[in-house]
Amino acid sequence: MYRLDLEDNSLSFEGRRHEPLSLECNFVGFCSQCEGDLSSIAYYRICGSWAVAARCRGCGKLFVLRFDRSWSIEEESELGAGLCEGSSFEPPRASRLNDLSREELEAVFTPAELRDMERCERGEAYTRQNLYRARAKYDKFERLFGVRIDI
Ligand SMILES: [Zn+2]
Repeated sequence: MYRLDLEDNSLSFEGRRHEPLSLECNFVGFCSQCEGDLSSIAYYRICGSWAVAARCRGCGKLFVLRFDRSWSIEEESELGAGLCEGSSFEPPRASRLNDLSREELEAVFTPAELRDMERCERGEAYTRQNLYRARAKYDKFERLFGVRIDI
């Protein structure tokens, strides 16, 4: 399974990370799913042959094309993409307190912290210390309830 890191365009394959040699955007073939044009995102050298990460202009799917030394195509595989290992499973972000359960919020934050989080969210004046104290607990809240607060 190949995996493209969208942040630095490195390609993970069999547990190894390959840095792109080139980020040229060229036409590299046709999509096996929709026959759309494939355009390259990055080129890599893997074990003496070439690999090209490409995106279909038709359906948006990502592929890896493997070529031998003389640029004959050897293999085409679908490509998974993510920002990096781990962060592709980011918990959903909830920026609105109203979307969260009051019970869960009250289990972690004090009434004063909640009041100032709400005020900050509404753009009203709030007590900074309360918000700072609340922010220090966002990790805990995420651990407990799987939601990252973003205020
Ligand atoms: Zn396609």
